[in-house]
Amino acid sequence: MGGNNSYEMAVRQLTEACRMLQLERGICEVLKQPQRVVQVSVPVRLDSGEIRVFTGYRVQHNNARGPFKGGIRYHPELTLGEVKALAMWMTWKCAVVNIPFGGAKGGVVCNPKELSQAELERLTRAYTSRIMDFIGPERDIPAPDVYTNAQVMAWIMDTYSAHLGYPTPAVVTGKPVEIGGAPGREAATGRGVAIVAKEAAERFNLSCKCVAVQGFGNVGYHAAKFLHEMGYRILAVSDSKGGIFSESGLDPEAVLEHKRRHGSVLGFPGAKEITNEELLSLEVDILVPAALERVITSANADNVNAKMVVEGANGPVTPEADRILEERSILVVPDILANAGGVTGSYFEWVQNRNGFYWDEERFNAELERVMSRSFIEVVERAEQESVSLRLAAYLLAVERVARVRELRGIYE
Ligand code: NAD
Repeated sequence: MGGNNSYEMAVRQLTEACRMLQLERGICEVLKQPQRVVQVSVPVRLDSGEIRVFTGYRVQHNNARGPFKGGIRYHPELTLGEVKALAMWMTWKCAVVNIPFGGAKGGVVCNPKELSQAELERLTRAYTSRIMDFIGPERDIPAPDVYTNAQVMAWIMDTYSAHLGYPTPAVVTGKPVEIGGAPGREAATGRGVAIVAKEAAERFNLSCKCVAVQGFGNVGYHAAKFLHEMGYRILAVSDSKGGIFSESGLDPEAVLEHKRRHGSVLGFPGAKEITNEELLSLEVDILVPAALERVITSANADNVNAKMVVEGANGPVTPEADRILEERSILVVPDILANAGGVTGSYFEWVQNRNGFYWDEERFNAELERVMSRSFIEVVERAEQESVSLRLAAYLLAVERVARVRELRGIYE
């Protein structure tokens, strides 16, 4: 995944915002670096009896505005540079939607598709015990990311609670509802993507009806589902094995059912198979990259045929591609706004765990819609005031908020 490039990309985006905000150079330097990088070795006994040692990371970028917050990714190509970039993006994302969290990210270099459930559980517990001293409800709160899910969060919560001697649901978010997860959290990122896509389509008068979604996991599936419910036609979706296309539109529920049974969206009855690259160049109104970083680059940005790109994934568009899309008048709704529904939902879950008072899903969804719509308007207004892209406007808002807190709290030397 070329993690160092992701980190360089994150630093470039920050540097541009710092320059426009005329931030003191030293503050910009503080914001460029993660506050802490933890690397651990994670020994796991495989079902065969053999011991394998995996590498795990937890990067804590900035906690000026509140406890560190960010997902855990299990991926064979995970790199430290990538985790550092994702941690920094979390800081800005929490600030854009104005929730009291900082930014972090973590993960283990492993291929979860090759591990049994029992091996995954042992790996998760071993990883948790190694980062135990650095996480906690007031300190750093993990959540699901690529190839981790509610079950993985349950194991983290259980391991952490066992060490402390009492149940500590607020140590992670995105848990199963039965152990303190919030109804609505699992769908929250995709719901947020759909909310901002609809707002953007209305605001910028795009007669949007056709959508393509890259990545049919938590974010991609839910974004497709909610856009479908809003009346959009889902022309194409994909996963790591390839994509499917149907001119008359796909039903996301039926595609999910097919993926559950066959392990991929490929082979869905009545749909034509396409590659991930072809999906990115389809003529659609809304393109939602919802898989991994840096899929739209200077090499293929000219082929994008969407009116608008709504970033479900983190960092799917490189700065060079951003410029090309801007020149071609393709609107980009940036990740730190578009996929912030997930961390906003996580915030609601954490608040409920700490209060011991639980909301119903209707309240969760109404609060989510309020935060996403308000944040969307704030970003659009900033973009209009300063005549900049939505991405730069979101960065200006976020970096300014974090820098202001840093200034108020001062530097403790
Ligand atoms: P997931 O593991 O649920 O799904 C990932 C999907 O991407 C799968 O369908 C997988 O097959 C597909 N994929 C993997 N490699 C691919 C490739 N090379 N080409 C095409 N598809 C590929 O993960 P997720 O939680 O949906 O996360 C997706 C993206 O959204 C990531 O960038 C993640 O950081 C971001 N994100 C997730 C959340 C969340 O709440 N889960 C919140 C904010 C942002």
